[in-house]
Amino acid sequence: MIDLHTHSNVSDGTDAPGEVVRLAQEAGCSAVAVTDHDTLDHLPAAKAAAADAGIRLVTGCEISCAADAPGSMHVLVYFVDEAKVLGQQLEALQRARVARNERIVEALRAHGVEVTLDEIRAEAVDATSIGRPHVARVLVRKGAATSIQDAFDHWLAKGKPAYAERERLNPEEAVELAHASGAVTSLAHPYSLDLTRDALDAEIRRLTDVGLDAMECVYGRYSPGERDELEELAARHDLATTGGSDYHGENKPDLSVGTGRGDLCVAREVLDRLEERRP
Ligand code: AMP
Ligand code: ZN
Ligand code: FE
Ligand code: FE
Repeated sequence: MIDLHTHSNVSDGTDAPGEVVRLAQEAGCSAVAVTDHDTLDHLPAAKAAAADAGIRLVTGCEISCAADAPGSMHVLVYFVDEAKVLGQQLEALQRARVARNERIVEALRAHGVEVTLDEIRAEAVDATSIGRPHVARVLVRKGAATSIQDAFDHWLAKGKPAYAERERLNPEEAVELAHASGAVTSLAHPYSLDLTRDALDAEIRRLTDVGLDAMECVYGRYSPGERDELEELAARHDLATTGGSDYHGENKPDLSVGTGRGDLCVAREVLDRLEERRP
């Protein structure tokens, strides 16, 4: 068993990268990818923990892309060499996030919610990728929202008073940067694009044409029927498949490393097939 999709507190999970790796080993995984959002800063600690635990760390991350779709597009990257161009581009995205957090705080204050950037930084001491989930935790702690979800529903979600856009890569750019860094890409949780069946098929055709290597079919929160449908779609487009829990620690308490909601089991062969796609 393996898990190719997990998050640590370097982005919006709640466990340190090494802890995520230890949980993978405990769950019986022979390989794990910590795939924090828009950063590679989790890799050194994750690698060290994997060496200690005697399991394989697949070096990766998850990039939020500009989607030509009503929903969101996340692209998972695997086998990445942190020293290369992708790392530089991600650092630029982090700087853009800092500016965006300033806009979120300004909007909240304009609506009478007294929060500061320092409070958000304090909420995210271990994080490189600081974003709305951290702001949401501050809002809950200060009583400006009743729950993380309430903070999004009232303030932070798209269309709400403190929403701020942020800079994103196009999927084409993400694929190109990944390949230039020796890595492969997989379209994460494809149903998040919120496309109809035909539109999803067309979008995957387009992404495959620009070099997408794989699709995430076995996802922690998808049903067996959905997983089968995605595997069929991947086969039709000659894409490799990936799978993982999308573990976020306490931020998604229904999901465990390796086993998801209890019914997840990603076979080691998935990793072997994926390696065959390396550029
Ligand atoms: P950011 O990268 O700062 O834009 O934050 C994105 C993260 O916020 C996602 O990975 C989700 O965990 C969370 N998120 C985004 N939209 C919502 C929403 N409407 N409700 C709850 N959580 C959300
Ligand atoms: Zn996340
Ligand atoms: Fe995602
Ligand atoms: Fe994720």
